Amino acid sequence: MRVVTAFNRILRVPGAWVTGAAFTDDGVVVSIRAKARRHRCPCGWSTAARYDQSRRRWRHLDFASMPVWLEADIVRVDCASCGRVRTADVPWARPGARHTRDLEDLIAWLAQRTDKTSIAKLLRVSWEAIQRVVTRVVADHITDRRFDGLRHIGVDEISYKRGHKYLTVVADHDTGRVVWVAEGRTQAALEGFFDALGPERRAGIEAVSMDMATIYRDATRRAVPHAAICFDPFHLVSWANKAVDAVFQNVDRRSSQLTGREWRQARYALRAGAERLGSRHHELLAVIEHDRRQLFHAWELKEEFRALFQTVDGDDADSYLRDWIHRARASGLPSMVNLARQIERNFEGIINTVRLGLSNSRLEGVNAKIRLINRRGFGHPKWQNLAAMIHLCLGGITVPLPTQR
Ligand SMILES: [Zn+2]
Repeated sequence: MRVVTAFNRILRVPGAWVTGAAFTDDGVVVSIRAKARRHRCPCGWSTAARYDQSRRRWRHLDFASMPVWLEADIVRVDCASCGRVRTADVPWARPGARHTRDLEDLIAWLAQRTDKTSIAKLLRVSWEAIQRVVTRVVADHITDRRFDGLRHIGVDEISYKRGHKYLTVVADHDTGRVVWVAEGRTQAALEGFFDALGPERRAGIEAVSMDMATIYRDATRRAVPHAAICFDPFHLVSWANKAVDAVFQNVDRRSSQLTGREWRQARYALRAGAERLGSRHHELLAVIEHDRRQLFHAWELKEEFRALFQTVDGDDADSYLRDWIHRARASGLPSMVNLARQIERNFEGIINTVRLGLSNSRLEGVNAKIRLINRRGFGHPKWQNLAAMIHLCLGGITVPLPTQR
């Protein structure tokens, strides 16, 4: 079998023939020629005429451990439709790319699953190259179709750069997918999303969940006045946890049955959801129940508040929460009384959450996943880079592997 034939069969470069191969210090350089006679402008217009041409190399999937480069003529066309000279598309690579589509897809597939350092080492590509690939692959996959049929959405601010910078993220409660990422935590960042939806899709929005900060509330009321505003249980429960922690901080830990180490374990037990506790934690809580009655009561109130989002029926939510507020007030614990006041102020939004069933939210994990993505990429100097990673990992994008082609 001739070498050229062998490379043709092995590489299966889409839309191209292999015309030669050379082993160089950089790896294997495989010359290819496009099968099509006509050159296509990115706008879709095509011509047989070349404006000019030059040689370009694209990095391809490795051949065993040897880097493989595809080399071909890249043609520029004088596009009658665009009215200017543009580089013609090639079937094996995305416009402007220096890696083939196969290699880019492999990089993006890995970026959905692992950290940048591992990808850079495994595939011998730079961090910058990985970032450019992710941006291109996302641009290739993302369409306005992701806005179709949205009914229940959640908007949240995500901090990055150690809490110095923020992104506004909109996700779909029904699929758990992120549909929008914008810079900053401003009304404008959310307005951009509602503008992108357009009037018809805005009319389909039934509920918008958010935290209790007022930033997003006004923009939501203006854009989708018919939609119910709900509050994320995640944020509400974190309020309740803070209130319990305030009681914990004020507890006199001297002359207690619990040791310092046990108090630290107890603090975890008080904070975690009751269903996640082991028998050891329950033992500690039993001691606290006898030993530090008020702290135990604060914990009980917190768990009863959590139950609102887990087990209470939508029709009963109103009376359940009113009763809870009454008991929190009666506890006499300043942080709990304060919490009751805050909750009363946001009563309607909390009831909406339970009534519309947005409480068992798939979005609770989105925040944590974004933090993980941020860590895997070690910082993301530009917000657009982090945004592209979020779309890639949480936007429901399926990247095909070259082996699945
Ligand atoms: Zn054109």
